[in-house]
Amino acid sequence: MNRQTTNPTRLFVGDEQKLDVTITKQLQKKFCKQSFEDDCFCNECRKIKNGQHQSIIWIEPEKKYLLDDLTVIFKTIRFQLEQNQSFFFILKKAHHLSPVCANKLLKTLEEPPPGYTFFLLTNNEQAILPTIRSRCSINHIKRSSSSLLLHPLLTFFIDPQKKQDPFLFDQELKKQKPTEQETVDLLEDLTNSIQKRLQQSYGTCYNANDLERLAHDKKHSHQKKTLDFLLEQTRKPPQPGSSSLFWKNLFINYPK
Ligand SMILES: [Zn+2]
Repeated sequence: MNRQTTNPTRLFVGDEQKLDVTITKQLQKKFCKQSFEDDCFCNECRKIKNGQHQSIIWIEPEKKYLLDDLTVIFKTIRFQLEQNQSFFFILKKAHHLSPVCANKLLKTLEEPPPGYTFFLLTNNEQAILPTIRSRCSINHIKRSSSSLLLHPLLTFFIDPQKKQDPFLFDQELKKQKPTEQETVDLLEDLTNSIQKRLQQSYGTCYNANDLERLAHDKKHSHQKKTLDFLLEQTRKPPQPGSSSLFWKNLFINYPK
């Protein structure tokens, strides 16, 4: 990739949770060692999702940004990257950058050392200092239904390792405490994603032979089974006060 052609500093505007998901996906696309899919859990993707990737630093201020919050940036960019290496700084809540912090950053944002990229995130574009804004290319991220797929509870139905862990699921469930409505939304999202994948496999069939092959494909029949199961669950959504039980049953009975 030619570094000159891409703006190394970008401002992403949108709902906070949606931004996290979008940026995570972008970083996965960048670093994934397999052919990236939304639900990839290769080593790189897993590290990115867990916020532990060695070439990504997320910065989130407690309230306003302090100069201390930025120290890690200046310490890091002292190191010159290899020709094909990339490093990303993600600054959450960029509207909380004070003029003092902004001044300290401006030069770096304008012209980061080769290979370093800055993503500034905000849900309040108007509150971004003009000096910062003028140095960024701006991307507006809209909400879409697929944004829920990375919901911590749903990963237990997608990640092969987590699928095996009822204890961890239980913990997450207690933490998230989804309402009935959230449960319905998340279920719909999971169902849609399976449906989409099935459609994609049908899309690769051009003749009866292909269809025949697909019918014998284990992964495909598993997806079909999963979809049937999910559609059945959708028909009997949780009663008030019973989402937790609903999720436990969903987890236990989910096609393995
Ligand atoms: Zn991956």
